[in-house]
Amino acid sequence: MPFPQLTDKLHALEAQGLYRQRHPIDSPQGIFLQREGHAVLNFCSNDYLALANHPAVVKAFKEAVDTQGVGSGSAHLICGHHSEHHALEEELAAFTGRTRALLFSTGYMANVGVINALVGRGDAVFEDRLNHASLLDGGLFSGAVFKRYAHTDILQLDKLLATAAGNKAICNKLVVTDGVFSMDGDWAPLPDLATVAKKHDAWLMVDDAHGLGVFGATGGGLLQQHGLNQDDVPVLMATLGKSLGTFGAFVAGSEALIEMLIQTARTYLYTTAMPPAIAAATRASLRIVITESWRRDKLADLVTRFRAGAVQLGLPLLPSASPIQPIMVGDNQQALAMSSVLLSKGFLVSAIRPPTVAQGTARLRVTFSAAHEAHHVDQLLEALQGMAQ
Ligand SMILES: *Cc1c(COP(=O)(O)O)cnc(C)c1O
Repeated sequence: MPFPQLTDKLHALEAQGLYRQRHPIDSPQGIFLQREGHAVLNFCSNDYLALANHPAVVKAFKEAVDTQGVGSGSAHLICGHHSEHHALEEELAAFTGRTRALLFSTGYMANVGVINALVGRGDAVFEDRLNHASLLDGGLFSGAVFKRYAHTDILQLDKLLATAAGNKAICNKLVVTDGVFSMDGDWAPLPDLATVAKKHDAWLMVDDAHGLGVFGATGGGLLQQHGLNQDDVPVLMATLGKSLGTFGAFVAGSEALIEMLIQTARTYLYTTAMPPAIAAATRASLRIVITESWRRDKLADLVTRFRAGAVQLGLPLLPSASPIQPIMVGDNQQALAMSSVLLSKGFLVSAIRPPTVAQGTARLRVTFSAAHEAHHVDQLLEALQGMAQ
């Protein structure tokens, strides 16, 4: 073995309960999965609206592949920008009430690209401590002064921004937050963040990966829910691989913001455009997101039912109103053990461990889909009850 230090590190990960393994799925995404020969009831997908395998979305994808082929051929600025991409961007701008929208190949790339296009050396970026890894990495890569504030702590952010305002060496200020926090399920205090950012002349960027589709009257996300416009939140980012059930991401905002990204965001410029058929499928799923509000209503009912049952069982939940409902465990090995007991009973619930979450806060991350029924929630609660005893 030429790299013994790698094997040592891997053994150490295993000993700490931090080793990760992949398990191939042999079925389409949905509430029932075929996993290594077993049928499981799935409670860990981000396909909240059950659109990843929706017939209309599949049909749009197939038709686009038949007429447009598979590959996009190049980056958007060479010859990869297809009219399906362009049409989706226009529809996403209208959907989010922003002037323009720009597609990125993944959410990770969108976040790294936007933050690095907006701030660099001589600027400052302020992030919630529990932000998604792609936002934290984007901030770290940027070379800007990087400040983290305690989770949803507006007062601390206010102080940090005031200090930066008094520092002549700092030019642009960018405040960055998840909308719905991906591992806790709670919301950022967006109206307060918008007020504080404006007060200190800072830009506010919201990553609404888990809010888009799920919240707001037509699924426009947390910004729609709170009535926050482009002036309040100049940079909106969201992904297409969660509620929309496809793949990729977008950023929405002003003409100047989008043009700046097209000119300078390196993760936009130097990567292949997503296949046009993905954009076509996303256009079909967007129509369902907007028109079928029953999916949002049903999700909310499932979440209410789960929380009521979990409280009765005395399970330690977090204050989350979203389809992300973590059950706190603490110890890594214990979280893994609980996940595998659930699996043996036919329930797929993932154990989330550091570094995805802080040390000592390992958890079972339960997520719901509009395709779940009340009796599925009850079955999960029953299995959890059996484990507590
Ligand atoms: C999933 C996620 C991303 C990354 O999006 P991908 O398209 O999967 O790369 C970014 N931010 C948040 C909050 C996410 O949950």
